[in-house]
Amino acid sequence: MTTQIRAPMQRGEIAELLRDHGIAPTHQRIEIAGVLFSRCEHLSADRLLTIVNSRYSEVSKATVYNSLRLFLEKKLIREVIVDPSRVFYDANTAPHHHFYNMSSGELTDICDANLQLAGMPTLPDGMVADSIDVIVRIRPRDGAGGPVAPASLPASC
Ligand SMILES: [Zn+2]
Repeated sequence: MTTQIRAPMQRGEIAELLRDHGIAPTHQRIEIAGVLFSRCEHLSADRLLTIVNSRYSEVSKATVYNSLRLFLEKKLIREVIVDPSRVFYDANTAPHHHFYNMSSGELTDICDANLQLAGMPTLPDGMVADSIDVIVRIRPRDGAGGPVAPASLPASC
């Protein structure tokens, strides 16, 4: 199941979305999902914790991590692993790829239709390709000075 980002969402809509994915809509899960689905950005667990606790100060780090695990398991969100120390959570589960700006640390969507792969390798016997996730790591051109402005990147999917 893919989830389209609909913003801003009301608490009742978020609770319904959680139930649709087989997740019991506790108050804390609604808060966490609310942050993920109300922002068109990719968040790390720590950033998510900071945002949730700026509105609702009783969510522990463990609760955030456990909720993210559950959301991933139920395919409510997807995980984008730039490297083991940079993991982002994405409310957009439709097929798409990412630019990772190594200068600003920002992750930006690349629409699936805007990326074509040639020369797909032969898969091992008995295997099928489940998904392909491409991360294009970008940095400012030498001498360009400063991080790339988000406005110069392609629009989100
Ligand atoms: Zn994304």
